[in-house]
Amino acid sequence: MLNQRIILANTEVDNLDMNGAVQAVDELIMQHKKAYVVTPNVDHLVRLEKDSEFRKIYADADLILTDGQPLVWLSQIYGHPVKEKVSGSDLFPHVCQLAAEKGYSMYFFGAAEGVADKAANILRKQYPGLRIVGTYSPPLGFDNNLTQLDDCLNRINACVPNILVLALGTPKQEKFIYRNREKMQFDVALNIGATLDFVAGNVRRAPRWMSSCGLEWFYRIIQDPKRLAKRYLIDDMQIFKIAWKYRKKKNNSNKR
Ligand code: UDP
Repeated sequence: MLNQRIILANTEVDNLDMNGAVQAVDELIMQHKKAYVVTPNVDHLVRLEKDSEFRKIYADADLILTDGQPLVWLSQIYGHPVKEKVSGSDLFPHVCQLAAEKGYSMYFFGAAEGVADKAANILRKQYPGLRIVGTYSPPLGFDNNLTQLDDCLNRINACVPNILVLALGTPKQEKFIYRNREKMQFDVALNIGATLDFVAGNVRRAPRWMSSCGLEWFYRIIQDPKRLAKRYLIDDMQIFKIAWKYRKKKNNSNKR
């Protein structure tokens, strides 16, 4: 399948709707090339301005899906609208369905102790036949500790999952896959942030109407103001500057 990549401010995105995104994930699995998927939102665009490793991660990504409604609006303002918002959290159940139908195995890496297991049990009931072959919640700071990092890679490699689900938050999950993918056995990695928390039910996701009004951030702040207020109310305000800075970037449609 040919994806149309369009430029959106300081990144590119694959212009796919949900069905197209699921099909693209399926194709990446069948190609066995250790692909990874990123899901840009406002927070990622702000990080791309200041973090050169994050820019490399984006440049190498196999699939780039538009995660937030503000990015959909931005694409409309720029005159190259993306088909729809395809957030990691919305894509995830579709990928579970695909995995159950096709017999693909999944490994859940990340989230707090017990959360991935709880999410796995819920999903096994929702998608009969779903093969979740392992879960692990790594200790804080594992990525800077060689012994712990090796242990994590060994755990994943012992299961050789088709789909590696990374739930460490941004940019930890993206940096983990970018730095270690050659040492790991998997077909496609999905960076899904807090999605396992949503599935397990210990963090509530914003209602759909809030998410389509671009207010998901507001709902998240209310639940965890100490951690998220700075991110959403201060850091992410840079988006206005970024939108202005890249307003003239040309869009030659780019087939992949
Ligand atoms: N998390 C983790 N290890 C860490 C930091 C975070 O497993 O060192 C988990 C955290 O428990 C949560 C998930 O990462 O389940 C997503 O965090 P966040 O809300 O920051 O993600 P976002 O969806 O906003 O990227």
